[in-house]
Amino acid sequence: MAKLKLEYIWLDGYTPVAGLRGKTKIVEGDPDSFTLEDCPMWGFDGSSTKQAEGSASDCLLKPVALFPDSSRKNGFVVMTEVLLPDGSPHPSNTRATIMDDPDAWFGFEQEYFFYQDGAPLGFPEGGFPAPQGPYYTGVGYSSVGDVARQIVEEHLDLCLEAGINHEGINAEVAKGQWEFQIFGKGSKNCADQMWAARYFLLRAAEKYGIDVEFHCKPLRGAYDDPLDWNGSGMHCNFSTKHLREVGGEDYFKKLMDAFSKYREEHIAVYGPDNHLRLTGLHETQSIDQFSYGVGDRGASIRVPHSFVNNDYKGYLEDRRPNSSGDPYAIASRILQTIDTVPTE
Ligand code: ADP
Ligand code: MN
Ligand code: MN
Ligand code: MN
Repeated sequence: MAKLKLEYIWLDGYTPVAGLRGKTKIVEGDPDSFTLEDCPMWGFDGSSTKQAEGSASDCLLKPVALFPDSSRKNGFVVMTEVLLPDGSPHPSNTRATIMDDPDAWFGFEQEYFFYQDGAPLGFPEGGFPAPQGPYYTGVGYSSVGDVARQIVEEHLDLCLEAGINHEGINAEVAKGQWEFQIFGKGSKNCADQMWAARYFLLRAAEKYGIDVEFHCKPLRGAYDDPLDWNGSGMHCNFSTKHLREVGGEDYFKKLMDAFSKYREEHIAVYGPDNHLRLTGLHETQSIDQFSYGVGDRGASIRVPHSFVNNDYKGYLEDRRPNSSGDPYAIASRILQTIDTVPTE
């Protein structure tokens, strides 16, 4: 038996974007055979996280996913759902009520900025670096080679050792902007991994004195301004069993009609302030239009060439979700829309 360090993490009651919270519980156990079922229920003071009034402040934490934490001896991160004292889901608990389908696969591309002292990492004090161009997938100290490289590498290892399906990293278009991709089967499973990956990123950056900015458009400027920097998205690549195995042009067109019909419902859960990012520029479609196109990065939904070449089978990329969106809500909304289209 060893003393295990369990970091219980949960989403707080802040809106429009929930924050991550965490606290440590020490339990005795065998780190090699410890499982989710071994994690006890726990609780916290909801009055300090906008989840309860001070007079009745207890909230419960129900463990739902377990991730080994290689940054800590005998450490684990425990993803939890927040429950009310009677055991029902707290209103902030988006995970409890979403639509799930274990055969639906999701790949999220999380973009974000590193920030230091109120500005993107690498911005000179009070000014701007060279315009966008060399940063995307760049190499070399002036482009990307600051401490960011160390953090993204550490984050990658933390995720892989935690069993998270981290699928890749790239430096993004703006200075100080990066991306990683997370893949998962099932909306809850994939979104659990994404929230845990966000948690590990925030933690990895702490010790360097660096923050992670998830806002979709932290740097604003006129659209024709050379200093109008890219915003951050969280493209959602998705496929259902039917899309992967049956597909077909007719089904695809009906699916796109449904996505067009539910445009507003999608935008409502695709992250706040998305009108600042979905402008029709910077490889986006404007927020009030729906379009799809083969290989089209200016469309709402990009249809991979492989999809068309494979008789309209495979996955699609919804390019509208943004960097601070809730992956539970996004994946669920996509499944809800798909569910309205008959598959026979
Ligand atoms: P790009 O930057 O060209 O848009 P990325 O390589 O960053 O693409 O991301 C593509 C994502 O698509 C990856 O996260 C990957 O896991 C995901 N993906 C690939 N195949 C499928 C599939 N069949 N269903 C769902 N997601 C998929
Ligand atoms: Mn990408
Ligand atoms: Mn990207
Ligand atoms: Mn993409």
